[in-house]
Amino acid sequence: MSMKEDNFADWYLDIVEKAGLSDKRYPIKGMNVWTPYGWKIMRQIDTYIREEFDATAHDEVCFPLMIPETEFAKEKDHIKGFDEEVYWVTHAGLNELDVRLVIKPTSETAMYPMFSLWVRSHQDLPLKTYQIVNTFRYETKQTRPFIRVREIHFFESHTCHVSEEDAQCQVEEDVEILQRIARKICLPYTLLVRTEWDKFPGAHYTVGIDTSMPNGRTLQMGSIHHYRTNFSVPYDITYEDENGEHKHVHQTTFGMSERLVGALIGVHGDDKGLVMPPGIAPFQVVIIPIFSKKNSEEVLAACKALESALVAGGIRVKLDDRDDRPGSKYYDWEIKGVPLRLELGGRDIENGVVAFARRDNGEKGTISAADVVPGVRMLLDVISEDMLARAQEVQESRYQDIETLEDIPQDKILRFGWCGCEECGHRFEDTYDFKILGVPYVPVPFKGRCIICGEPTEKQAYAAHTM
Ligand code: ZN
Repeated sequence: MSMKEDNFADWYLDIVEKAGLSDKRYPIKGMNVWTPYGWKIMRQIDTYIREEFDATAHDEVCFPLMIPETEFAKEKDHIKGFDEEVYWVTHAGLNELDVRLVIKPTSETAMYPMFSLWVRSHQDLPLKTYQIVNTFRYETKQTRPFIRVREIHFFESHTCHVSEEDAQCQVEEDVEILQRIARKICLPYTLLVRTEWDKFPGAHYTVGIDTSMPNGRTLQMGSIHHYRTNFSVPYDITYEDENGEHKHVHQTTFGMSERLVGALIGVHGDDKGLVMPPGIAPFQVVIIPIFSKKNSEEVLAACKALESALVAGGIRVKLDDRDDRPGSKYYDWEIKGVPLRLELGGRDIENGVVAFARRDNGEKGTISAADVVPGVRMLLDVISEDMLARAQEVQESRYQDIETLEDIPQDKILRFGWCGCEECGHRFEDTYDFKILGVPYVPVPFKGRCIICGEPTEKQAYAAHTM
């Protein structure tokens, strides 16, 4: 296996292959096959996302894959933002279509013509929906599993509200939901309001959700958008208020994709393989029986009893009773990143203990067999907290405040004063080949000067090389 620090790109591809996450040999470039273990991880994430959105009164929907060109073209900025990336369906059977169909790159233009039929009165609002679907974008840059693909497994919420303020409250709720999702996956992130020239096509503003990777580049894991009435006007989504007046709704969206899998590989993985956060690990615990010649039946029975106890305690567990050496089993489950390994042999049974090894930091010890379920739960919680704390520390170490444009460090996420004007922003991006990620969504007190023009400013910009 390649080493993470030496060659991140090769290391990443090695992990994807060796841990059995996806197979990129499918005969369409950038459309990869989810293989069983990778799909189990994605399903864990999807399940958690569903729980969060159901608990915050969003309803799950599922819209068609295709969008007529006539609907797709209604919002001018939106189509301009996507026209180089969309796949078109031009024929049905042998007939050329009168109206071409777009394979959805994102779902606004599929959903909003229907929203305009669904929303009638203020009593229909807020309308809070979400769906988990695949979207398609013709990527021209080099593809990379989970990070840059042409068929994207995607989650998106779409909401409609009576006012701009109500929609803003939804953005705040999305930020809280994101916080819980990121904690579950132990991923640090920043929330940055994207620049005007980088916001989602058609949005009033976009908040990018970025994490950082071992090669010093940032990865956008998702985004939250406030649309104001930018879509409800062209799609005619209106409601009748209490006074009988017709008004356009204010809309928001929140989307995240399979990039979460790419992020967890890059943030947590090490030279032995994946390190799965306990919250979404398909198997939180693997049990390895330590047989000797005389006791194999007794040990296997004890392992099965241990497995049943953990399953009953709501823990996702795998008993590896294959006919193989323990060392080779350790190796296999380390590649897959199972957070906690339990070992059980004759001596452990005699002593009333179960031996454990943590995947994240290699720590070993024993827990009492009598309290194995609470003992394992506690260990999983500690692993989760430690993984997040370590990842946050690493992310912190990648930031660098700069006050001059000389000797800009290339492998850091830069923070500096920016007056906010587009001219300065473009000049910085073009001259130094960095991308301005935006300014903090939650304002941080700052007083300084624009690093480009020298004007006093209270705005601090973040810039980085991006994945
Ligand atoms: Zn400036």
